[in-house]
Amino acid sequence: MVMFDKNRRHNRGKFGDRPKGLSEPQRTVPFGVQRIPEAEKEGRTLRHFNTVANKYDFMNTLLSFGIHYLWKRTAVEMMDLKIGDKVIDVCGGTGDLAVLADRCVDVSGKVIIYDINRQMMQAGRTKRIRPYKNKRIEFVQGNAELISFPNEIFDAAMVGFGIRNLTHMDAGFTEMHRILKTGGKMMCLEFSKPTAPVFRRLYDFYSFYVMPLLGELFVGSREAYTLLPESIRMFPMPEELTALLKKIGFRKVTHRNLTNGIAVVHVAEKA
Ligand code: SAM
Repeated sequence: MVMFDKNRRHNRGKFGDRPKGLSEPQRTVPFGVQRIPEAEKEGRTLRHFNTVANKYDFMNTLLSFGIHYLWKRTAVEMMDLKIGDKVIDVCGGTGDLAVLADRCVDVSGKVIIYDINRQMMQAGRTKRIRPYKNKRIEFVQGNAELISFPNEIFDAAMVGFGIRNLTHMDAGFTEMHRILKTGGKMMCLEFSKPTAPVFRRLYDFYSFYVMPLLGELFVGSREAYTLLPESIRMFPMPEELTALLKKIGFRKVTHRNLTNGIAVVHVAEKA
């Protein structure tokens, strides 16, 4: 497994801006609904996913009633991958998106799961899935804010339910843009908020009361499944994300709401 290079630095954008006049230790970023020192977010996120790694797939299926598989399939279809494409699954975790992409790019293509957390990738590796056994899917451990690949080598870069966890989301998108070839596709699948007011209230009740309870019962951590709905509420709305992607340099940015906006897929192209 390749390790990442932490020596490069990024400009901080909107989601990690340091207000002028503040000294380095006071810089804060969102972690759920709290703000925490910027330097702590990576470690706390790592610990969070260490806690849930072994039950991650099971909990996703339980909490979404299995719908996350349909969302992931739709999201991968929207990238319109071709046989032979080289694809990176940023924050790929247990690799559901990578497995779906592998079916599209076939043996002449390549899919790389790129994630900072070894335990999440290990949890996915135990799946009895052919592309893993045939070593068609590769694993690289690294930080999505400093992706350890050269410029312009991928035909597609996707991120599923991961970008919200970065300390600087804009740095993650900028890196995805950098490693894409001109005309390459970027796909981001993320949770959002339901558009229908009544459904949104029901969803709020489910996510703030039922999810943490199930987290406590099945993973032994109420906190881990309180962070999930909190971080979803802090994530930008689709139009705001579209504006950020355009600012970074993506074009043809489109999005599609899934299940009344519980999840949203953004697809864009590198100009
Ligand atoms: N993409 C998978 C899916 O759709 O099921 C996993 C999503 S999981 C919610 C988020 C993943 O992002 C975790 O595996 C976590 O380790 C990873 N992650 C969080 N911060 C990261 C970072 N800075 N760089 C790379 N991966 C990160």
